[in-house]
Amino acid sequence: MNIILLGPPGAGKGTQARKLVEDRGMVQLSTGDMLREARSSGTEMGQKVAEVMDRGELVTDDIVTGLIREKLQEGAEGGFIFDGFPRTLAQADALGALLSDMGRALDAVIEMRVDDEALVSRITARSTCGGCGEVYNDNTKPIPADGKCAKCGGTEFKRRADDNEGSLRQRLMEYYKKTSPLIGYYYAKGQLSTIDGLDEIDAVAGRITAVLDKA
Ligand code: AMP
Repeated sequence: MNIILLGPPGAGKGTQARKLVEDRGMVQLSTGDMLREARSSGTEMGQKVAEVMDRGELVTDDIVTGLIREKLQEGAEGGFIFDGFPRTLAQADALGALLSDMGRALDAVIEMRVDDEALVSRITARSTCGGCGEVYNDNTKPIPADGKCAKCGGTEFKRRADDNEGSLRQRLMEYYKKTSPLIGYYYAKGQLSTIDGLDEIDAVAGRITAVLDKA
């Protein structure tokens, strides 16, 4: 089963993708994670990508589609979760072509809806474990009092360089201008399901399961 999690920054796509990896053995393809890896490589390309990301703008379609193409070739028995990809109509077309070339299909596109006020407070309170990537939130899921990650015991926590109000505003603008047209695109293809993403993690996960069970 191959699915897209679609939604603005802070909607909880990464958190839900990680649950699906654990529960269903799916493979998470997060272009944001891949780009963060590229930027820490110190190459010239990584440097350019870092500047674009820190401004909250989108990296070019060619770069992200290339990253996805490489990962798709590795295959995934439990299927792929596309997290943060596609973000433009050109990327959506490219994904459709890549999947059909491989004889694979897209089984569901899940739009996670969260209001903008909640996104700002979620993102500015967010940190992740440097060891395993577990996501914490100062208000709703704080780092345990002993300072150790509940998942892996790691003690280093990071805040993303682009998780500040200025970059977030730009990221939201990019979402509404370039990514939100995908809602209509996948609706027209009969592949869209919309769920309320503003709830406890397990409640949202239950809604995703309900969609996948019907797909
Ligand atoms: P994310 O971790 O998904 O929030 O992505 C962080 C940043 O990486 C975004 O603000 C963009 O600068 C870049 N990025 C991630 N995925 C894409 C994509 N599919 N297309 C273009 N830029 C992307």
